[in-house]
Amino acid sequence: MNYQAFLIKYGEIAVKGKNRHIFEDTLLSQIQNALRRVEGEFHVSKENGRMYVEALSAYDYEELMDALTKVFGVVGICPMVRLEDEGFDALAEAIVSYVEEAYEDKHFTFKVNARRARKNYPMTSMELAAALGEKILDAFPEVRVDVHKPQVCINVEIRSHINVYSTEIPGPGGMPVGTAGKAMLLLSGGIDSPVAGYMIAKRGVRLEATYFHAPPYTSERAKQKVIDLAKIVARYSGPIKLNIVNFTEIQLYIYEKCPHDQLTIIMRRYMMMIAEHFAKESGCLGLITGESIGQVASQTMPSLAVTNEVCTLPVYRPLIGFDKQEIVDISYKIDAYETSILPFEDCCTIFVAKHPVTKPNLKSIKKSETHLQEKIEEMMQTAIETAEVIYAEP
Ligand code: ATP
Ligand code: MG
Repeated sequence: MNYQAFLIKYGEIAVKGKNRHIFEDTLLSQIQNALRRVEGEFHVSKENGRMYVEALSAYDYEELMDALTKVFGVVGICPMVRLEDEGFDALAEAIVSYVEEAYEDKHFTFKVNARRARKNYPMTSMELAAALGEKILDAFPEVRVDVHKPQVCINVEIRSHINVYSTEIPGPGGMPVGTAGKAMLLLSGGIDSPVAGYMIAKRGVRLEATYFHAPPYTSERAKQKVIDLAKIVARYSGPIKLNIVNFTEIQLYIYEKCPHDQLTIIMRRYMMMIAEHFAKESGCLGLITGESIGQVASQTMPSLAVTNEVCTLPVYRPLIGFDKQEIVDISYKIDAYETSILPFEDCCTIFVAKHPVTKPNLKSIKKSETHLQEKIEEMMQTAIETAEVIYAEP
């Protein structure tokens, strides 16, 4: 079946009053952005609280669905046949051929759900539904009517055009990106942080990202993997400005001056500080990490408290209560998993102690950090100034 138009369903309940316009306008432009990646010409329109995508040229259905199902705010996509109003007989004929084409196997129960946005139509909704239902029954002896729990609900909407649709492909839900400000994702090459970014973007938040690498201890390939992950997340969130920070000097300095069981925690504190610097510079309202309570030594509640202590912006940890398998499931769903599990070292694995502290004491950590006094400010400044910026496009 060759659909020319799609009804886009979105979560109307969540948006009331003035916000509705912002929600709808942002959704419309995010759909347009997503369609830029699809070959073909499309028109997106808003009409009386409805949104439509119309294909103006040939296109690939799978490719189009792939793009539309990644736009946050979209709850469902209904492939639609759009007809001009040419009287009941023409409509009945069109509906019969719709059923003929859309359902190869006709062994199903159905009902027709007719609605008139235009009240000057010569039949009431009930009359129209009954009359169309009869035509379908006449045409296909295998189908049965079930008005309570039909397997197929054929929607017929009389508007300026007549819309016919009966299937809905689920969208990702959430809020359109751009309706909720911007946040800085600490993006590593692991499984968790791309999922964390996805989840916050799902609430309408634009993303920027910061990655810390430690060449030559971490390779070009490890860096490329993070860029690839940013591109994967960008399919949902839109383009991500990625700051790539050379962390080698700082890591070596911490390694040289601080007790080794505190390395990870101290390192994490400096990462947060540098990421926060970039965040504030570009107007981000928070930081995002992929941390989850108890997953590793640096993610116990005491460790999280000590890491958090250096931040003045809120830190969003959307995975905080998730088990690893739940995170893996989402990673898989968003197509990040295969990339995340590529076996390239990340900068934390090289400098980890055999027995890292699980209950760090803030006083003791701060005392250790005094050993860094001499050069750390200057090193952080250098790390910030020499950061490489990459725009990760989907
Ligand atoms: P992930 O799977 O996201 O790498 P993880 O389970 O390996 O997480 P940690 O290494 O403790 O956990 O990192 C916790 C969080 O800190 C990450 O989710 C990420 O947000 C951030 N982070 C860790 N390493 C880096 C890095 N090299 N660059 C940027 N952010 C990082
Ligand atoms: Mg990691």
